[in-house]
Amino acid sequence: MTESAPGIVIMGAAGRMGRMLVQAVAESERAKLVGAVVRPGHDWVGEDLGHAMGGPAMGVTVSDDPLEAMARAQAVIDFTSPETTLEVAHLAAQARAVHVIGTTGFDDGQIERLVPASRHSVQVRAGNMSLGVNLLTGLTKMVAAALEDGWDIEVVEAHHNRKADAPSGTALMLGEAAAEGRGVTLAEVADRGRDGLTGPREAGHIGFSAIRGGDIVGEHDVIFAGQGERIVLRHVASDRVIFARGALRAALWGQGRSPGAYDMIDVLGLDR
Ligand code: NAD
Repeated sequence: MTESAPGIVIMGAAGRMGRMLVQAVAESERAKLVGAVVRPGHDWVGEDLGHAMGGPAMGVTVSDDPLEAMARAQAVIDFTSPETTLEVAHLAAQARAVHVIGTTGFDDGQIERLVPASRHSVQVRAGNMSLGVNLLTGLTKMVAAALEDGWDIEVVEAHHNRKADAPSGTALMLGEAAAEGRGVTLAEVADRGRDGLTGPREAGHIGFSAIRGGDIVGEHDVIFAGQGERIVLRHVASDRVIFARGALRAALWGQGRSPGAYDMIDVLGLDR
């Protein structure tokens, strides 16, 4: 562990992503795990985090108070719910801590409400923190820009049966990239949740379909369907650790940077 390793708090440490993040930070030489927060009333509160997770002690006591946990942190990694993330954004701004937001499912109003906090702290938000999906986003934009409007664009995603939101944050990110490539606004062309007598497909629309089942970690296809040919760009996530690694990279990247709202394209230094 380096002397200057930033202290990191994990919000929602008992969640699927929370547990992965605890592991990723604990194993890192470049960061120090200084706090873990779970919901008030959770039976991990007051326990040593390592013991709570069924392993050896980690020297971090699980808390239900994000403000107290963040007092000694330089970054907070947050994969929870939109309501919780909005609260954490204000606390991170007060603490001047880097806020890495993996949470998805925000509505437009909630995204607006994240903005004031980003004037005081570094906020990195991405619907998907993996390198592969962020590359796929760039490719989607490039292909959409190269093809004529006659090609129909559909985004198909699959996730485990406990996922709360649809379409996934990643599917929306890919839809945004396709819309940008075409020079249109996604909100004006998005076709979500087709059912019943829908009639012929509207030209220029970007369609979304969501599959939910079993333990699927995350799969995304961007389909460009033309007359007599089809291009399919696909990303398959088989291990959640890719999101945790990306989030940790974002927390380290944000150290010493000017306050503002950033995404993984910034963190990975990919070309827009
Ligand atoms: P999960 O339900 O397993 O975990 C969420 C955890 O947050 C739960 O343990 C819950 O108790 C906790 N939580 C909620 N409010 C809290 C509060 N106020 N204080 C403390 N803890 C609180 O869900 P998950 O699969 O880990 O996913 C979490 C979020 O991350 C979802 O929005 C999901 O879509 C998103 N996600 C994003 C990426 C990405 O790369 N950006 C990848 C995977 C999942």
